[in-house]
Amino acid sequence: MIPYGRQDIQPQDIDAVLEVLQSDFLTQGPAVPHFEQAVANQVGARHGVAVNSATSALHLACLAVGLGEGDWLWTSPITFVASANCGLYCRATVDFVDIDPRTYNLCPQALEAKLARAEREGRLPKVVVAVHLCGQPCDMQAIHALSERYGFRVVEDASHAIGGRYRGEPIGNGRYSDITVFSFHPVKIITTAEGGLAVTNDDRLAETMALLRSHGVTRDPALMTQEAEGPWYYQQVALGFNYRMTELQAALGESQLARLEDYVARRHAMAERYDRLLAELPLTTPWQHPDSYSGRHLYVIRLELEAIQPSHRRVFEALRDQGIGVNLHYIPVHTQPYYRELGFAPGDFPEAERYYAEAISLPLYPTMTETQQDEVVAALTRALEGA
Ligand SMILES: *Cc1c(COP(=O)(O)O)cnc(C)c1O
Repeated sequence: MIPYGRQDIQPQDIDAVLEVLQSDFLTQGPAVPHFEQAVANQVGARHGVAVNSATSALHLACLAVGLGEGDWLWTSPITFVASANCGLYCRATVDFVDIDPRTYNLCPQALEAKLARAEREGRLPKVVVAVHLCGQPCDMQAIHALSERYGFRVVEDASHAIGGRYRGEPIGNGRYSDITVFSFHPVKIITTAEGGLAVTNDDRLAETMALLRSHGVTRDPALMTQEAEGPWYYQQVALGFNYRMTELQAALGESQLARLEDYVARRHAMAERYDRLLAELPLTTPWQHPDSYSGRHLYVIRLELEAIQPSHRRVFEALRDQGIGVNLHYIPVHTQPYYRELGFAPGDFPEAERYYAEAISLPLYPTMTETQQDEVVAALTRALEGA
């Protein structure tokens, strides 16, 4: 099976992890802060807060910007469930903004129209989570301008987008948002096995996320709310969690980070090769904004269903049957059973649902060979013919 994504582990990654295993600290040592600084430097942010997953980072980001009961969080329906669940963790109400049919990201015009309605109804969102689907940046200038006008905070879910650029600047530099979150799950661009990281330029947001990552417990007298009772003293000043990243993960991540630019460049070369090889087939290849440089985490095609005999499902099955590990990113979150219980229904976000009816993610990862890619294209060609 050719998977849709997979990690690349080199000998230097293994050495980096082994070195930590033989050191004094498996957790809460020097590797995590070192990795945080390396990622922050890489993306041009002041602070990095490493955690055990991007899901945890999204939760901490929402708490840090003050999301709570009675507030609203809006995001795209075409994302992994974690981009929305972070709102529910904070007891906020979640709603969605339909996607742009060309970028598949949250549509800024739909956002603007929904904000105008929400203002009249007195239920403006506190947080908008902008998801850079497949690594292609959202229209952050538009979202940022709306955030100034309507007073919401912006969290970028850049789980697909580390190494990408928006208008010439790295995703994560925080020019248009409060916090940006990266994922280091093995299918993502670089990996720490499980792991995530939030970057921000705001000292207070970084401090809050770091505190909540580790139980809300501090040994820093500056953060204590009553006087220290002695040198043994620690104090719990907030209700936090154990969302810490281990030293092993941080060492792996920092070793991977050295190859970030090569990985993204390789993904671009493979994606452009797909564009050429698929040009004559009855499908839409991913549109790329000329002003941005995608992380190219996923290569999503949309089938032209009226031009082919087999159904979307049949094409998907035929690819899997031929050993091609295609996937579908994503099932619209509002149609998940859990979200239907909250009142959402099919039909609520038509562009997202149209996308879902046609989309297939083809295999794309840095160590994929051209021969494997040719196999994918041949299998897809057969599948589209209904053969
Ligand atoms: C993978 C992913 C997440 C969650 O990342 P984890 O590190 O697995 O928690 C969140 N949002 C998006 C868009 C993702 O792709």
